[in-house]
Amino acid sequence: MALETINGIVIGCTDYRDNDRMLTLFTVERGRIDCKARNCRKPTAPLLACAQPFVYGEYSVFFSGERGTVNAADVRESFYALREDPDRFLCASAAARLCLGAIEPDTPNEPLFSLLYHTLSFLAYAKTDPYDLLCGFLMHFFDRIGYRPVLTHCAVCRRDVRKDELLFFSAEAGGTVCVACPHGGKPKSRVALEAMRRMLLLDDRELDRIVLSEPLRKAVLEMECEIAEQVFGRADRGVQMLEQIL
Ligand SMILES: [Zn+2]
Repeated sequence: MALETINGIVIGCTDYRDNDRMLTLFTVERGRIDCKARNCRKPTAPLLACAQPFVYGEYSVFFSGERGTVNAADVRESFYALREDPDRFLCASAAARLCLGAIEPDTPNEPLFSLLYHTLSFLAYAKTDPYDLLCGFLMHFFDRIGYRPVLTHCAVCRRDVRKDELLFFSAEAGGTVCVACPHGGKPKSRVALEAMRRMLLLDDRELDRIVLSEPLRKAVLEMECEIAEQVFGRADRGVQMLEQIL
């Protein structure tokens, strides 16, 4: 068994036995790690604070193969405010759940880690609407897992559609679709597609600048849900959370 110090965010937890909890950590060093936190649910347990959803901490973990057991931990950020607001909690849960479906053990993903860290920070502490933050998170999430939608050209015929009046969207095709190409569904708002494009220009530290109107937020989230369904399938828990939000 080897003892390692790793930095990670709790993106999943499942209780087992009377006082134990299985944690899924998104770590900087190793990507996804599943580890046991023994006795962490006792009110006086030293591991109590570090075994909560969304906590970012430094964990000392004993490894035996891929599985680990938390030996000690220090909280870096508790993001406690997330647990006091149901909307913010829901958005954070959806973001964490989607990350869980996108990361692998022993595969660090620093860009995605940075995105989740900043999203949780803003969800906890910024005044930005949590659903606007979620819209911004999702655009960057798709980009970082290799599913950035085409927004300036038709995803089918590759024609520049920036001046087109009538535009459609197909997650299956990979983004915007022009009127001449096969498309399903209703025309999409050009403003919503432009908002999606602009959100992708923001740095992780600028996500709190997003301000969407109610109809715009809905239009963006609808297309993002479509992409998430295309990538993960309708049975995925993260996708179901997005549909619930929509
Ligand atoms: Zn086309």
